[in-house]
Amino acid sequence: MHAVQTTKLGLGFVSFIASRKQKDRREKVTAALVTDNEEKLLAHAVGLPLQGVWTTWPESARPFDLSWQSLITTAPSLIKFVLNAQINCVRTPDMLKLWGYTTVATCPLCSANQCTLHHILVNCSFALNQKRYTWRHDSVLKNIEVSVAALVADFNRKQARVLVKTTRETFNTCFVRKGETKQRGSKRPERLTPSLLECANDWKLRVDFDAKKAEFPPAIVATSQRPDIVLWSRMSRIVVLIELTCPAEEGMLKAQLRKESKYSALLDNISATEVWRPLLFTVEIGARGLVGLSTHKTFVRLGFTSSQAKALCKKLSSVVVRCSYAVYQAHNNLSWSHGSDLIVVEGALRDKTQVPVKLEAPPSLDDVEAPPRVDEKESEGEVRGREGDSAAPQQRQNSAGQRYRDTFPLY
Ligand SMILES: [Zn+2]
Repeated sequence: MHAVQTTKLGLGFVSFIASRKQKDRREKVTAALVTDNEEKLLAHAVGLPLQGVWTTWPESARPFDLSWQSLITTAPSLIKFVLNAQINCVRTPDMLKLWGYTTVATCPLCSANQCTLHHILVNCSFALNQKRYTWRHDSVLKNIEVSVAALVADFNRKQARVLVKTTRETFNTCFVRKGETKQRGSKRPERLTPSLLECANDWKLRVDFDAKKAEFPPAIVATSQRPDIVLWSRMSRIVVLIELTCPAEEGMLKAQLRKESKYSALLDNISATEVWRPLLFTVEIGARGLVGLSTHKTFVRLGFTSSQAKALCKKLSSVVVRCSYAVYQAHNNLSWSHGSDLIVVEGALRDKTQVPVKLEAPPSLDDVEAPPRVDEKESEGEVRGREGDSAAPQQRQNSAGQRYRDTFPLY
């Protein structure tokens, strides 16, 4: 391969090598061959109707964590299910028929003609009516509630900060002024995006479960709709609605649009009060463990650091595949024993930490008060308050070393 172009193709169509060293040439050739091979494999995968379904999944989504730490702390059967489910290669009725083990591919539960993995995980009417999908949804929701409740408690202990000021400080820490030098040892700020919860310290949280219904706070607006998570603060006059969905990976974008459409009227009604400012976030956790990009963004926007949000996404991914695995294993069984025993993972990705949680009675609505109307000076974000303390949020995640030691104790 030479630097001189020998074909009639225009500039940029030939890989240019400025250096003629053999090492550089070898790297270029290897990279070109790898890219060419990957393109061939991808083109082949796109043509596979069953095994190539993953090519339709959103590229920005986070896959299930297959790091060494996850592999050695997760049950092998679960890892096997996750890997095979991504190419639809599990022992579902349609695949058993395809492989010649059976003659029919009907669903044992709802008698649908073609019982695929997609059908078992998200589309079976019998499983839906038996609330198997609700159990998976509420398990994921419970884990989000645990983390968000801790976050809210952290911010409610701090002094409220003016949102505009916080944003400016964060912006300034990203740049070095002309003529100045960056101070040695100065650390990158923990959070680049200003937190929504930072501008108030009277946040209230309400989470809607199937076994513990939570009405929308009537002091904000009267509605029969019940978003999964409602966070509101009288001080900042912000209402945060979070809607969780656990769809099939190929339908994540549609699920997001469906939820946004569902709550658009409610957002309009809240805005019409001219008191509250509504914000809707949709969170999509795929049934096979893929976590939508909007999920991580939502957590960071709420106030989690990027690493905390990443750990939470991994945790949710782990929970959803455990639940999907249970749903898959029960696709031949008409009875369903799970209900209120939601799966909650305490910080680490371990099977031993699976804790059944019994839901308590719903809280009363007495603590909800109508917010007073405020004048223009106290507009959004202009919350009076002293400088917030700089105490870092309490670390709720155990260290990796501790998790390893807990899992594999020394003898
Ligand atoms: Zn079915």
